[in-house]
Amino acid sequence: MKMLEDRIRKDGIVREGNVLKVDSFINHQMDIPLFREMAKEWKRLFDGKPINKVLTIEASGIGIAAVVASEFNVPVVFAKKSMSINLDYDNYETKIQSFTHKKIYNVIVSKKFLAPEDHVLIIDDFLANGCALLGLLELTEKAGATVEGIGIAVEKGFQQGGDLIRSKGIQLESLAIVESMDSATGEIVFRDQPQQS
Ligand code: 5GP
Repeated sequence: MKMLEDRIRKDGIVREGNVLKVDSFINHQMDIPLFREMAKEWKRLFDGKPINKVLTIEASGIGIAAVVASEFNVPVVFAKKSMSINLDYDNYETKIQSFTHKKIYNVIVSKKFLAPEDHVLIIDDFLANGCALLGLLELTEKAGATVEGIGIAVEKGFQQGGDLIRSKGIQLESLAIVESMDSATGEIVFRDQPQQS
């Protein structure tokens, strides 16, 4: 999506360790008009799919997912992270290794909010090694829900997550795919995606 790529080029900061900072418009301050355009693009890309719920993970996915849920006119559920073992059996539970914080979190979704009749669109801000998405897929599998697709704002195409998810046959729509980035020069190269606006 050209609008997102242009914004990343303008305001994204490439850090050492393969980290792209987008604090000024996604991860700390949030640009809601931009999120609205991203949501419209996902609505077009997932057109015709019977999506009745958006699923994301706290914290940084919530803002984007909320705007997407508004565009699709469906509820949004966010998986919750906790450092302690949760003994409440009314939850689906998994473990996720965080890319940015290098910690392992227990992640839960209440059984009340994810069920076999749900057709889910998973939304997140970044895709790196795919741990967050694999965890969300496991939660939907435990619930017996159907994953209709995955929408990612920024995929780092040089890390393994994208290939891992696509090899499962899931429709994955990343609105910007970073092919390479250089923390010394700040240069960012995007993958060409002809089907996108
Ligand atoms: P994964 O689980 O795919 O390895 O990493 C995805 C999660 O890590 C995302 O939810 C995001 O919060 C965080 N993340 C991964 N790479 C980056 C990055 O380059 N920049 C930022 N801001 N977050 C990242």
